[in-house]
Amino acid sequence: MISRFIQQPGRSMAVIFAIILCAMSALVGSYVYNACQKASADYTSLISDVMLAQQAAPLLRAALEDSSRQANSNHIESISYFISLSQQHLTTIQSNIRTRSLVSRVEYLQGHFSKLDKHLVHLAQQLQEAHQRPELIDSLQRSAIAAGGMQAGLYSKLSDEIHALSFRQRLDMQRLSIAVSVLLVLVVSAAITLCLAVVHLHRQRTLMQQLMLIDELTGLYNRRHLVSAAQAALAQAQRDNKPLSLLLLDLDYFKQINDTYGHPTGDEVLRQISQQLRHLSRPSDTLARIGGEEFCLLMPNTTTHDALQVADRLRREIESNQLDGLALNANPTVSIGVTTGYGGIHTYEQLYCFADKALYQAKALGRNCVESMLPHAAPTALSEEKTYFPILTSQTIDF
Ligand code: GH3
Ligand code: MG
Ligand code: MG
Repeated sequence: MISRFIQQPGRSMAVIFAIILCAMSALVGSYVYNACQKASADYTSLISDVMLAQQAAPLLRAALEDSSRQANSNHIESISYFISLSQQHLTTIQSNIRTRSLVSRVEYLQGHFSKLDKHLVHLAQQLQEAHQRPELIDSLQRSAIAAGGMQAGLYSKLSDEIHALSFRQRLDMQRLSIAVSVLLVLVVSAAITLCLAVVHLHRQRTLMQQLMLIDELTGLYNRRHLVSAAQAALAQAQRDNKPLSLLLLDLDYFKQINDTYGHPTGDEVLRQISQQLRHLSRPSDTLARIGGEEFCLLMPNTTTHDALQVADRLRREIESNQLDGLALNANPTVSIGVTTGYGGIHTYEQLYCFADKALYQAKALGRNCVESMLPHAAPTALSEEKTYFPILTSQTIDF
């Protein structure tokens, strides 16, 4: 069912367009989602680096307090570890700030970074000297504690700044996600609306095309459809070298029905007789209302003999079938003109002309009868027709 829906030219375009829209929306959505994830992860790693760096000073203080009553070499070792750890953290954090393009955001902390860097370099020199002169260990400890304090202050400010940035970014990302979600919903709705509009337009077009080919009063085909069906049938008859018969039917004294019972009754008579003709004709034949009370039956692959039989059956059925809900004095009757073309050598107009002449003759002979008029070119392929040809032409047929 879906494939049948897609196979329609207008619909397949709309479906492809809708699929492209949805795919693009899904791509944009996944890109934004990944961007949100990545951005928050970046801040998380920087925050964890700063938190690690913040632990260096308390660790140093704890180490110095623990070993205050022990050998000075322990102090030197703890301070040395503190210096290398702090320098390592400082390098990592500064490089992280550069990688994440946050330099301008933390510009005001640049002075503190350089001051801490210089202080750590100075502390390292002091450490070297303290190796030679143990009396300098006290001042080294004070200097190290001061560096720890400086470091704690700097990282606390940095941490606050990054948290604020991270919060703002999360807020921006949330807003962006909402905007993208709304956009996606709009795009998908637009795609669905487009598909529905195309389906609606297609239905309207099909309906319009049908209405153009259907007679409004009776629901039978109209003359426009008959002509194109006749062209196709003639082409087929030519290809297969087969006969094509055409019946013209005209209700007798129909004006009197209108005059006696009124136009609405006349309309109802036309509707009911149309239904009778529809039920009596084969699905392969084309039945059309071509005028007020005139009908045409196009019968592919049908000889004159068979067409005359059909015509007379139609005439008798119409004469004898009661019309529902209409109290007419007598049933309407019909006169029928029949003709047959062979091998598609005659045009529709020519065949129509022969059938019309036959119909005129049926009217002249008193109505409620069937007359035939055949083209002068005798059939060559169908020997059976040759026997009928001279006998039936312009004759009233009595079965
Ligand atoms: P004949 O036996 O010679 O065919 O006589 P007739 O009265 O059937 O033919 P005529 O051509 O004199 O009249 C045809 C009538 O059909 C005239 C017209 O008012 C009527 N008619 C044409 N179209 C319609 C229609 O749609 N509805 C109704 N109710 N009448 C229609
Ligand atoms: Mg008429
Ligand atoms: Mg008539």
